[in-house]
Amino acid sequence: MFTFESLLDAITVDVGREILNPATGELIGRVPEHTTADVDAAIARAKAAQPAWAALSDEERVDYLNRVADAIDENAEALAGILSREQGKPLNGPNARFEVGGCAAWTRVPAGTPLPVEVVVDDGETYAEMHYRPLGVVGAITPWNWPMMIAIWQSIPSLRMGNTVVSKPSEYTPLSGLAINHVLNTVLPEGVLNTVVGGGELGARIVESESIDKVMFTGSTKTGKKIIEASSGNVKRLTLELGGNDAGIVLDDVDPKAIAEGLFWGAFINTGQTCAALKRLYVPDSIYDEVVDALAEVAGNMPMGDGLDEQNVLGPLQNEMQFNVVARLVQAAKDANARVVLGGDPDQDAPGFFYPTTLIADIDPQNALVVEEQFGPALPIIRYTDLEEAIEQANALDVGLGGSVWSSDRDRAREVAARIQAGTVWINSHGTINPFVPFGGAKQSGYGQEFGVAGLKAVAQPQVIQG
Ligand code: NAD
Repeated sequence: MFTFESLLDAITVDVGREILNPATGELIGRVPEHTTADVDAAIARAKAAQPAWAALSDEERVDYLNRVADAIDENAEALAGILSREQGKPLNGPNARFEVGGCAAWTRVPAGTPLPVEVVVDDGETYAEMHYRPLGVVGAITPWNWPMMIAIWQSIPSLRMGNTVVSKPSEYTPLSGLAINHVLNTVLPEGVLNTVVGGGELGARIVESESIDKVMFTGSTKTGKKIIEASSGNVKRLTLELGGNDAGIVLDDVDPKAIAEGLFWGAFINTGQTCAALKRLYVPDSIYDEVVDALAEVAGNMPMGDGLDEQNVLGPLQNEMQFNVVARLVQAAKDANARVVLGGDPDQDAPGFFYPTTLIADIDPQNALVVEEQFGPALPIIRYTDLEEAIEQANALDVGLGGSVWSSDRDRAREVAARIQAGTVWINSHGTINPFVPFGGAKQSGYGQEFGVAGLKAVAQPQVIQG
C-alpha cells in the first residue's frame, strides 16, 4: 500500500519538468520529459505484450481487473492526495476522493459486464454469430480536468477486451496519469499498460503510428479534428469525446428552491471544469428572479480554496490558460452590460488560479460567455419567454455533448428532452454519469460511446461467424 509520499516518490524523477500546485504555485514534483522515441518504445512494448494478454481467458482478464479495482481502493487516499495537489480539486465534495472512487467503480463495472457471443440469425437456413475480438493496441489520450477517471474510462474497457494500452496523460496533469497507472501496474502483467508523459507531439505520434489500432481521445474539438486527419494511415478506429457547451432548460412549473442545488452542482462540479457540465442555463421569465436568487444563495455558500483544506468543495482553475479563458468570457459579458449576480471579480494578487464562483444574469443569448465553452466557474443565465426559442437556442451551437430539462412534470420534460440535440439529456439533474449507461456526444462533441456494453464493443473488433 502506498502513502502519498511513497506514491509520489515512485512516479517522480530528480531531473525533469516541474509540476506546480495550481492553488499555491508550490512545486509538487518533477516528471520525466519523454520523447517521440519513448513513445515508439512504449508502443513496441504494448505490441509485444498484446498476444499473451489476448490469449488469456475472459475470466482471467476480469480477475486482473477486479484486483486492479481493489488496488485503487487500497491506495485511494494516496491517489486523491496527488490528484488534489496537481489538478486543484478539493479532497472533499464531488472532487478528488470522489474521482478516485469513480476509478474503482469504472473498473469493477466493465470487469463485471458480460459480453457473450450474440446469435444474430438462427432461422433454420442461416446461422450467424457476432463475436467481439481484441483490436490490438489502443492509444489513450486524456485531458486535465478528470485526469484519473478519464484515463480509467479509456484503459479498463480496452484491457478487458484483450487490447494493450499506451496511455498519454495531459501535459498539465502528468502526475495524476502516472499515479493511477502505477497503481494499475502493481497488478497488471508487464507491458500491458504503458505510460508516456509530455505534450501534444507525443499524442500526435501515437495517433500516426501504424502499430496503434484504436485511439480513445478525450479533449478539445480542435485536437479531435487533428486526430481524425492524422489517423487515416491505417484506418484507425476512433472514440472521440470532445468539447461541449451544454444547455439546461428550466420549465415554468419548477420549484426554484428545490432545484437550486442540482443546478449548482450541474454547472459547478469540478469548479466548472467538466465536459458535460451545465454551461448555459435558460430560465422562463415567469420564475426568472426566483431561480436566480435560489441559485445565488446556494452558490454563495460553497467554500472555494486550497483543496487540502477539508472544508472546501471548489478549487482553482487547473491552469493559467483556462483562468484567462474564463476571465475573458466574463469580461465580454460585463462589457455587454449583463448583470453580475455573484463573483466576476478575481483577486489578481492572491496566489493560485482562483476565479470566484460567478453567476451572470440578463445576458444576451449571443454573448461570448453563452456561445463559447467557458470550462470554469462562470454560469450565464438566459431569460426566455417562448420555450420554442429556448430550444432553438439550445440547439444552435455546433456541439451537443449533454443537456438537461428541469420540470416537475416528467412527461413534459421528456418531450422537451427529445428535441435537444445532445448525446445525453438529463431530467432534473445534469452530468450524472453512470458506468452502466453509455455516454457520448452528438455533432462536434464527438462520436463513439463509452461505458456499459456499448463501451466494451467500442474497443473490440466485431467478427461475424456464419454457417
Ligand atoms: P486538448 O485537446 O488541448 O488536450 C487533450 C489531450 O490531447 C492532451 O493530452 C494533449 O497533449 C493531447 N494532444 C494535443 N494535441 C494533440 C495532437 N495533435 N494529437 C494527439 N494528441 C494531442 O484538451 P484539454 O484542454 O486538455 O481538455 C479540455 C477540453 O476537453 C474541453 O473542451 C472539454 O470539454 C473537453 N472534454 C471532453 C470530455 C468528454 O467526455 N467529451 C471530457 C473532458 C474534457
